[in-house]
Amino acid sequence: MNIVLLGPPGAGKGTVAALLKKELGVPHISTGDIFRENIKGGTELGRKVETILASGALVPDEVTIEMVKDRLAKDDTASGYILDGFPRTIGQAEALDAMDTIDCVLNFVLSSEEIIKRLSGRRLCKSTGRIYHIVSNPPKVEGIDDETGEPLIQRDDDKPEAIKHRLEVYEAQTAPLIDYYRKKGNLIDVDSSPSPETIVKAIMKEIKC
Ligand code: AMP
Repeated sequence: MNIVLLGPPGAGKGTVAALLKKELGVPHISTGDIFRENIKGGTELGRKVETILASGALVPDEVTIEMVKDRLAKDDTASGYILDGFPRTIGQAEALDAMDTIDCVLNFVLSSEEIIKRLSGRRLCKSTGRIYHIVSNPPKVEGIDDETGEPLIQRDDDKPEAIKHRLEVYEAQTAPLIDYYRKKGNLIDVDSSPSPETIVKAIMKEIKC
């Protein structure tokens, strides 16, 4: 099953995708994670996109589409995938349509107030990618990863100015995709205010597509 997760930054797509991946046995493909891995690894792509990510703007469509095309061509996508953070523009959605058939699009719905709370409190362990929240999911020791003992960091794009920009970018460029997929008839709205486990249960009931 080919699934797209749509919704504003901070709506919990990444956390839910990690759980959903276990339920469905298909890979979780996050374009944000792929960009961050490239930045960490100092690749040519990483150098090209580093300042774009830090500002909260979108990487140009041609770069992103090419990267996704390569990723979807890998063998592990044979029985499906969960795309998280792609498409984010109408151009990307049209390119995805030309690549593959999408069975369902899960549209994560959350208020702007809750999004800001979630993003500004998010912390992460750089080496493992494990995600915490200073209020709702704190580490055992403040500022330290539970397993590796490394100091937790705040993503540059989770800082206040970048959050504001990311939400504006979402409204202007990504929100139009809700209509795009609703018209196609494969969009399912998901209330992303409950816990990730509750959200996954609701999704598993809904996806019969
Ligand atoms: P995310 O982890 O999904 O919030 O993505 C982090 C950042 O990566 C975004 O703010 C963009 O700069 C970049 N990015 C991720 N996915 C895309 C995409 N589909 N198109 C353009 N830029 C993207």
